[in-house]
Amino acid sequence: MRRRLAAGNWKMNGTAEGLSEVEALLQAHLSPRVEILLCPPATLLAQMNWKKGQHPLQLGGQDCHAAASGAHTGDLSAAMLKDAGAAYVIVGHSERRTNHGETDEQVAAKARAAHEGGLVAIVCLGETLAEREAGQTLDVVGRQLDASVPEGATGLNTVIAYEPVWAIGTGLTPTRDQIAEVHDFLRSRLSARFGADAAHFRLLYGGSVKPSNATEIFGIPDVDGALVGGASLKAADFSPIINALEQVAEMELP
Ligand code: PEP
Repeated sequence: MRRRLAAGNWKMNGTAEGLSEVEALLQAHLSPRVEILLCPPATLLAQMNWKKGQHPLQLGGQDCHAAASGAHTGDLSAAMLKDAGAAYVIVGHSERRTNHGETDEQVAAKARAAHEGGLVAIVCLGETLAEREAGQTLDVVGRQLDASVPEGATGLNTVIAYEPVWAIGTGLTPTRDQIAEVHDFLRSRLSARFGADAAHFRLLYGGSVKPSNATEIFGIPDVDGALVGGASLKAADFSPIINALEQVAEMELP
């Protein structure tokens, strides 16, 4: 029912040279059964869009401003990202929350702007190590989910990415049970707010996903895909992750 999604976040990595990695991905996944998304630096969006041609690879931005236009030097609006070829935008990534002090309310405003600009918002949330060790994980992600997902969100215009801060870029991953507990909790919390539409929201796991752990992670109930940082930069790493997701999706076919 929910189309699985393999999303790559290149962060502040990549110049035109990196486009050869996209070419390799396009060749390896000629008719993807899962949705594949790359979120490169905004400087590469238009070139990637041109390179992918008719291939169903999706593109996304890594952040957008909450306003549609105006005096915001250095920022990009959702409409600009869309114009450059994006269909998605990541909002509330922990690196934005930490490095730019973004609050849940600001993240919600960005997600709303994404919706108004015709983009699917990938809303990121996740606990720090201190919060997990203090037993606060569900309180933290519940609060972030409530406050970062705006009114008007639906399973079609919003994806949720659970990314424990301590797992991002560290090589550490939560256990299967820890991921399952949070995803189950998020689905229930969405149900309480959105009713039947909660079943349409895709829940991604993010944090040190790599070829060696992808199959196990994708087998966890309510994990509809992954948001992948470091391992999305090279097709040789991202492609096996996509394959693992495709295999899990295929096993579920009636
Ligand atoms: C991310 O940046 O969203 C991420 C999950 O990074 P990594 O896969 O490198 O941990």
